[in-house]
Amino acid sequence: MLNLIFFGPPGVGKGTQASKAAKHYNLIHVSTGDILREEIRLETELGIKVKDVIASGELVPDKYLIELLENTCEKHKGAQGFVFDGFPRTLRQAEALEEMMERTNCKVAKVISLEVPAEELVRRLVNRAIEQGRTDDTADVIKNRLVVYQKHTEPLIDFYKKRDVFVVIPGEGTIDDIFAAICNEIDNRY
Ligand code: ADP
Repeated sequence: MLNLIFFGPPGVGKGTQASKAAKHYNLIHVSTGDILREEIRLETELGIKVKDVIASGELVPDKYLIELLENTCEKHKGAQGFVFDGFPRTLRQAEALEEMMERTNCKVAKVISLEVPAEELVRRLVNRAIEQGRTDDTADVIKNRLVVYQKHTEPLIDFYKKRDVFVVIPGEGTIDDIFAAICNEIDNRY
């Protein structure tokens, strides 16, 4: 099994690269942001609960995310592996993922951390707001999501560095060049 995590702040390009990696390595792409937006669109019980939280740029409570992750992995039991995109975002989620992996004798092979300068992030998020009209892509909410990222998600860097799976890939350049750097890292070191 090959399990990858795509890591980094909002706007860094995780979704784009995670989706390419899932196709290339034949893995299941798990984007928690996409799953939650679909729940909102379908007005499910979960969707109704998380709608306002997402619109404010805050994190959805861990218990919902952990349950969602367990259900998703259960649904794809025979998969060759997973590409996690937008998960884990808190230490508690990272611990839950680790426990889940241990239960099935798996592990996270790599955490691919994409990095771009802060001003480029904001520029990309503002563009995405124009293109996709997401309710969480307004200027104030963007700022809040970056603060939430620093507070809750950045601590995961140490968590994964300790496990020796953390790699940094520069997130600027063409989509294909960035993807080539990611594949190089996975193919040579996995
Ligand atoms: P981005 O691609 O900008 O990083 P996502 O599409 O991954 O954003 O997520 C959008 C929103 O969905 C987050 O701001 C958060 O409210 C919610 N969300 C997604 N994944 C998680 C998670 N693992 N834990 C808590 N909230 C999450």
